This record gives sequence, C-alpha cells and structure tokens, in this order.
Amino acid sequence: MTKIVQRRCKYCQIIYAHKLSGSRTMGRKYSTNEDYCLECYEIMQTALKERGIVKREKVWEKTDEITYEELLREQAEQREKRKGTMISILTRMCVPLMNNEMTQEVISDRVEIDRKEYSYSFRRDIKTKKLTTEIEIHVAMEKDLIENKIIGYWRDI
Ligand SMILES: [Zn+2]
Repeated sequence: MTKIVQRRCKYCQIIYAHKLSGSRTMGRKYSTNEDYCLECYEIMQTALKERGIVKREKVWEKTDEITYEELLREQAEQREKRKGTMISILTRMCVPLMNNEMTQEVISDRVEIDRKEYSYSFRRDIKTKKLTTEIEIHVAMEKDLIENKIIGYWRDI
C-alpha cells in the first residue's frame, strides 16, 4: 500500500503528508517531495519553469512496447527477489472511487525494467473484478522543455 509519512516543510514550516511511493492517489493530494509541502513545491516549480530554469521534465507517454502481462510477470519476479528484505519499492493500490458510489476501484502501479519506468492503470468493478476501462500502460520519458520535445527514456540517476 501507499506509504505516507509526516514531514516539516523547509520553507513554510508546516507539517505535511509526504507520499513515499510512486503510485497515484485518487482524490487526495500528497507531496511527493521530501523537503517541501505540495503548495511550496508547486510555487517553486512554477517559478523555476517561468524563468526557464527547469530544462527537463519527466512525462508519461502511452506505450505498447510492453504488455500488462509482461509487467505483472516482471513484478512478480522482482517481488520474489526482494522477499525477506524490508525494502519494498513497488506498491499496489486499490482506491475505491468516492464519486462512483464505491462500485469501482482504481488499480495502478509502477514497474521498473532495465532502468525504464513503466506504469499501468485501469478501473474495475469492486464486486465482480471485471474491468471497466482499458488497461493503460505508460513509460516515463525525458522531455526537453527548451526544445519542447521528447529526447529519450527518463533515467533516475
Ligand atoms: Zn511549505
């Protein structure tokens, strides 16, 4: 499940909820930054972008270079390898949709393969587990904001 910890923002000094893992949270917004709250981080990002200081951006592009089944297989292998350790990078989340009378849930996760970051997401009926949307697979790409184009896969250094 998604891990949330409390942190104190280095700018405004409020205590905020920091989301450790990458999966998306429907409805509630958490800061994914470990130093700054959501509001400060957004202000900072906007200011940096407006001044042309931010040069690259991680963008999620739809892809068909890998299938959902392949992602699940890889995920299972990675989980197996990590067994017995306390480290869990990947999380799975099922979030019931409040605005849909709790009949649907969102399944979404990220998988890293060969240093490429993939994500999948879909919705399904809570009771029947039948899919109500297509499975969407995205891959993290690096966008050059100056040239306004994708220049390759995103790599975390
Ligand atoms: Zn703040």
